[in-house]
Amino acid sequence: MLSFFLDLDGTLYPAETGLWPEIKRRITLFLQLRLGLSPREAESLHAYFVRRYGTTLRGLQSEYPQISPHDYFAFAHNVNLERYLKPDPHLRELLCSLPGQRWVFTNSDAAYAERVLSVLGVRECLHGIIDIFATGLTPKPHPRAYALAREKAGSPSPNCCILVDDLPQNLPPAKKAGWHTVLVGKAHSDFADFSIPNIYQISQILEERPWNGCLS
Ligand SMILES: [Mg+2]
Repeated sequence: MLSFFLDLDGTLYPAETGLWPEIKRRITLFLQLRLGLSPREAESLHAYFVRRYGTTLRGLQSEYPQISPHDYFAFAHNVNLERYLKPDPHLRELLCSLPGQRWVFTNSDAAYAERVLSVLGVRECLHGIIDIFATGLTPKPHPRAYALAREKAGSPSPNCCILVDDLPQNLPPAKKAGWHTVLVGKAHSDFADFSIPNIYQISQILEERPWNGCLS
């Protein structure tokens, strides 16, 4: 079974919508309010978490385990998505026509992913959402996240798994696990089997490779 593992933010909608800067502002505000920091201290703690742990959540988990990940996500994602995203019929047509199974594989939480997918109008094209809670709070690019994601998807053969992601650092663990990789956007990665400027080019990879053994 061909299985697509599609990242959400910056992959199913472009990074330039302005949504991420607003979420980032709310993450910093969360640190400020919950930890009693000044705006400047909250910003540098955020930068430190990302540098040291890869994600803010992982930083919080390691250094402030009393903070609930659910509270963190609810606060960070309390954003009016319609201000930044709109229905994307072209994306819907594309995703729904991809052969095999399509999963969203995100370091975010499923409630937020559900909201993004419904605003884009593509929810029904996806078999399910593999979020940060589904991987036991282990984020990409930790190799364990990919192993758990494949398991959640019914353990398809690694050779039939395709990671589609906009962050170059998320590709190597997939590649090392025997998956195929698609990098979306302007970045470069030596671990990318395919590089496409945006998600709308995803059908290219179906033309370039027949995926015969995976389509049964
Ligand atoms: Mg992304």
